[in-house]
Amino acid sequence: MAGAKVTRMANHNDVHRAACGCGNVTLDISAPPLFRVVCHCSICKAFNNAPFADILVYRAGDVSNPEPGTVDFKAWRPPPNVQRGTCARCGKPAIEQFRSPLFPDLAMVPSANLEDEPPAVDAHIFYGSRIEDINDDVPKHSGYWRSQWAFGKLVFARRRDR
Ligand SMILES: [Zn+2]
Ligand SMILES: [Zn+2]
Repeated sequence: MAGAKVTRMANHNDVHRAACGCGNVTLDISAPPLFRVVCHCSICKAFNNAPFADILVYRAGDVSNPEPGTVDFKAWRPPPNVQRGTCARCGKPAIEQFRSPLFPDLAMVPSANLEDEPPAVDAHIFYGSRIEDINDDVPKHSGYWRSQWAFGKLVFARRRDR
């Protein structure tokens, strides 16, 4: 048992890295994500130029700030207040920063940008807006409030685990 504990602490102290496709934006990540979510909303589709967004959600303090000038931030339709950042060089999504008085500060990183294998998907949200059916046994939530509620529940449930 003592051995297992040491291993877990060692993993926790590992620095993980995420990078955009071109390598211009690199992020140091000091803890595992709270959860992984696939979002089918129209803003995520437009931002990612993809059928959905597959993102890892972290506490903001666990993800380093990108080097100044490497990321272009833009606030898409608020609320919620999400600053969506794309690489200044390749234009691909790099990091999203979420701040709300009701939530802990969060940082979201595309799952594909993680250099390690990401954990399994925890939920699909805004599934009613999907382009294609997804055949997996992951919980699926549709509609604005149900999707926000599912996201919020994951934030608070996983936060208590730590
Ligand atoms: Zn890039
Ligand atoms: Zn979305």
